[in-house]
Amino acid sequence: MIEFKNISKRYGDDKSAALAVDNISFTVPTGTLTTLLGPSGCGKTTTLRMIAGLESPTAGEIWMADKNGQLENVTHRAAHERNVSLVFQNYALFPHMDVLANVGYGLKMSGVKKSDAKERAIAALQNVGLVGFDARLPSELSGGQQQRVALARALVLEPAVLLFDEPLSNLDAQLRRAMREEIR
Ligand code: ADP
Ligand code: MG
Repeated sequence: MIEFKNISKRYGDDKSAALAVDNISFTVPTGTLTTLLGPSGCGKTTTLRMIAGLESPTAGEIWMADKNGQLENVTHRAAHERNVSLVFQNYALFPHMDVLANVGYGLKMSGVKKSDAKERAIAALQNVGLVGFDARLPSELSGGQQQRVALARALVLEPAVLLFDEPLSNLDAQLRRAMREEIR
């Protein structure tokens, strides 16, 4: 569960800078799929980045349920201390790492044993229908395949909250339909 309480976000210290997010409050109940819908520039990416802990709100509080369902204030908690994964709009894959290394990266960083990390990364790739792509570089993949790698990289961490920034916008109509089901 996620709760936004009167969140505002202004980039930089300049008081005259426009508000990217202007006093929004909402609740995302546990176990639900929720969509933020709005025109370009209305603050969707900024909102996701604040949930992930990649941006700090200028005002307001973010609360999230812990493992036991107890709400806690995470407003000032760092990204790596939140159980949240974000699939970026441009996927943000590491260009010099092959597919397997991309997917295993987060596990490696959180201290998972190398052989276990590899096993879990392979399983995650299997889940998104990418068997046999382990040694490819991102530049050797189609847009849809890159997105699947990004999805596997997020899923492998088994986050409590999984965020997608415009997950369907870069896909053709057929892939978009398939991906919509897969995300669900
Ligand atoms: P959306 O994802 O809905 O298109 P964004 O959250 O990316 O909207 O942007 C909201 C507003 O914040 C826009 O006016 C945008 O120009 C501004 N903005 C986004 N990121 C930054 C940044 N890093 N620095 C300054 N302004 C930004
Ligand atoms: Mg955006």
